[in-house]
Amino acid sequence: MKPEIVRSRADLRAQATAWRKDGLRIGAVPTMGALHEGHLSLVRRAAAECDRVIVTLFVNPKQFNDQNDLQKYPRTEEDDRTLLEEIGPDILYAPDVKEIYPAGFATTISVSGITDSLCGSFRPGHFDGVATVVCKLFLQTGADCAYFGEKDYQQLQVVRRMASDLDIPIDVIGCPTIREADGLAMSSRNRLLSPEGREKAVALPRALVQTAEAISRGANPQDSIEAAIGLLETSGFASVEYLELRGADDLAPITTLDRPARLLAAAKMDDVRLIDNVPVLPGT
Ligand code: AMP
Repeated sequence: MKPEIVRSRADLRAQATAWRKDGLRIGAVPTMGALHEGHLSLVRRAAAECDRVIVTLFVNPKQFNDQNDLQKYPRTEEDDRTLLEEIGPDILYAPDVKEIYPAGFATTISVSGITDSLCGSFRPGHFDGVATVVCKLFLQTGADCAYFGEKDYQQLQVVRRMASDLDIPIDVIGCPTIREADGLAMSSRNRLLSPEGREKAVALPRALVQTAEAISRGANPQDSIEAAIGLLETSGFASVEYLELRGADDLAPITTLDRPARLLAAAKMDDVRLIDNVPVLPGT
């Protein structure tokens, strides 16, 4: 069955309150739509672990630092609803911008520290926009748990920090990155790539996996990272915004692999900004 579309906070709250009264466990999957298998993997997990599932679809203007990026962002609500049919979440919450940010809206949730680098350096205000909307969606859905992809690894850590710091009683659950057959991480932005760009983009996950393996085997992280950046540039990426080794939990910079780490990158192909990351475990 296609999920019921809910557009207003009031309707969402009424439904969620009734479910909670019945003792049902509610799972939320926040998305910006243009759904693909990556999103669907989160919805499946939520459906397996919760009694009721709310998928949210909101292209959040506050998290776009670039207006052109916001305008180009794919919007495919009816297709999204059809894709969800086989999994059967209960609600597709798709509010418009005024419903989320009514006139006079003046509050920003800002998580410091972990937002200072990586994507935070290249997208000013992005994580404030994410933290603000996700906080609102947590409160509006009243969900017991929320599912996020490791694909957006820094975002996952920001959301965890925000929920914990604000005492929002919700379990934030990180789920593995789903990839295309050639290894490219699925992303709503992939559909903006030219056919040639799409082919070349596979260099990103390849470089990350090779570099992570080399570092795990004991190679010098800095040398390996520099080689990977060079490889991406010769593979057709116009710019590599960052490629860095960070602690897996706190995202602090690390130069020696003495604890579980993450190798994270952002690079532009065809003017499309792609991000990806892989785990790096000591001595594997
Ligand atoms: P978005 O619609 O891009 O904001 O993503 C909504 C949620 O889906 C976020 O938690 C993302 O991390 C997650 N997501 C996006 N792409 C993937 C993927 N390839 N694998 C797993 N999760 C993903």
